[in-house]
Amino acid sequence: MSASAHLTPTRADSAAYKLGTTYPDVPLEEKQRLFDEVKTDERFHDYLYGCYECGICVAACPSARYYDFSPRRIAQAAAREDVELVYQQMQEDIWDCSQCFSCLRCPRGNNPGGIITLMREVAVNNGLESAKQALRGYTRIIYKIMSTGTQVSPDMLQADAFPDWGPSVALVSEKLDLWRRALPPETHHTTTTGWQISTKTLVELYLIWHKTGALAMIAELARACTACWRRSWRTCWTKRVTS
Ligand code: SF4
Ligand code: SF4
Repeated sequence: MSASAHLTPTRADSAAYKLGTTYPDVPLEEKQRLFDEVKTDERFHDYLYGCYECGICVAACPSARYYDFSPRRIAQAAAREDVELVYQQMQEDIWDCSQCFSCLRCPRGNNPGGIITLMREVAVNNGLESAKQALRGYTRIIYKIMSTGTQVSPDMLQADAFPDWGPSVALVSEKLDLWRRALPPETHHTTTTGWQISTKTLVELYLIWHKTGALAMIAELARACTACWRRSWRTCWTKRVTS
């Protein structure tokens, strides 16, 4: 039994943590399975040693300033092994982290940003809806970089090309000339002035994404369906029964 098991909260306690969805359609066993996948990662025990609830990570966290987000809540949920809350965070909170790792100044030696990295990996590998939403736009950027070697240039930011990036894309494209006068010159490349990338570099980029598993993760997300809570091709029950 874990040292923190006596603190394990009830479902009602978890729901009270903040106004959010508690995902009652997803069985507790599935939430436990996902949390176990996070915990059994060999990095987990280097990222979490307990929590003083001091809030130093929150004070250092830029995302906590702008969102209903707290690295302290992430560390506490994992330390208490609150599978309901961890699942909720995997569907919501973890995508608000900007992965800056300012929270590494934790006096307990925790790495809340690292825990979030593990939770994101599990969310992606299991095709969670939050991962699909978060990576939808990012996936196109990866394919763009793979095929041309360059990032999205500012003049590509058109609302009809990136409808899933929300209303801010339309605002950016409407006032692009104004924004660009305020930005440093090195960000001023466009689709016509972007740099040329050699074939060798393109192949290297492709191999990096292939060898690190990034391409496989994207393919997994693309195959995930929404017919049931399993959502992931890897855990798809229909596939197991019919194959
Ligand atoms: S890594 Fe994430 S949780 Fe940690 S300080 Fe940065 S934004 Fe906050
Ligand atoms: S800084 Fe560390 S000990 Fe303090 S609240 Fe954050 S995770 Fe917990």
